[in-house]
Amino acid sequence: MIYIDKGHSQVPNILLTDGVTEAQNLRDAYDNDNAYFEGKRSSDVFKNSLINIQNHKCCFCESRVTHISDGDVEHFRPKAAWLHELDGLKKPGYFFLAYDWGNLLLSCQACNQRAKGNQFPILNSIIRTTITSTYDYSLENAIFINPAYEDPEISITFFEEIPKGNNYRGRKTIEYLELDRLSLNEARKEKLKDLFALKEVIQVIQNEVDREKAEEILRRRIAEILNENLQYVSMVKANFQEYIEFN
Ligand SMILES: [Zn+2]
Repeated sequence: MIYIDKGHSQVPNILLTDGVTEAQNLRDAYDNDNAYFEGKRSSDVFKNSLINIQNHKCCFCESRVTHISDGDVEHFRPKAAWLHELDGLKKPGYFFLAYDWGNLLLSCQACNQRAKGNQFPILNSIIRTTITSTYDYSLENAIFINPAYEDPEISITFFEEIPKGNNYRGRKTIEYLELDRLSLNEARKEKLKDLFALKEVIQVIQNEVDREKAEEILRRRIAEILNENLQYVSMVKANFQEYIEFN
């Protein structure tokens, strides 16, 4: 996972016009009928903005999603329902955040649908009984790392292709979102192998001038991955610290 600069003040226009109206409609609908959200969905009209900002990558696993699917609009706080650890699925979810720019991210299906689903564990769980239109979610202390509001690299690092939590929230985020699932570890490993191979080549070069030239090639490739925000930036950074140039 890597920090996403969403430009929190640069909200897509549709969310400031139709989105505001729609959010108010949702609050009114809930207040009129607390069972309004049984089986309702919201549309994905702002997805293109997220695709561009995140360079087509999943907000959680950094896999490129748009070449195999449309990608999912991920509601960081789930809009339809949330999973109570003992009581099961509770409705409604955070319906008033369905069009809130701060709550929206692009993710892959594996992270969003298969792993995260309606799970949204919080540290201050005593405050969450029923979510109403006036519920104050700012008191929750979310357990999941939100890559648009904090630097995920503080909480999650990598040993080779395997993600490691540096703290409780990092470990829980890896566990709940299955960021160490086999298919993902294999995809990351494939990327890493090419860079490790380059590093091995460098180590066998005897001539110092040639070795420096080869090192420059590896440094340039790593800079490209970081600058162009390609797949698995956080993993590459964790494994190739010494080849990263800081300006
Ligand atoms: Zn993902």
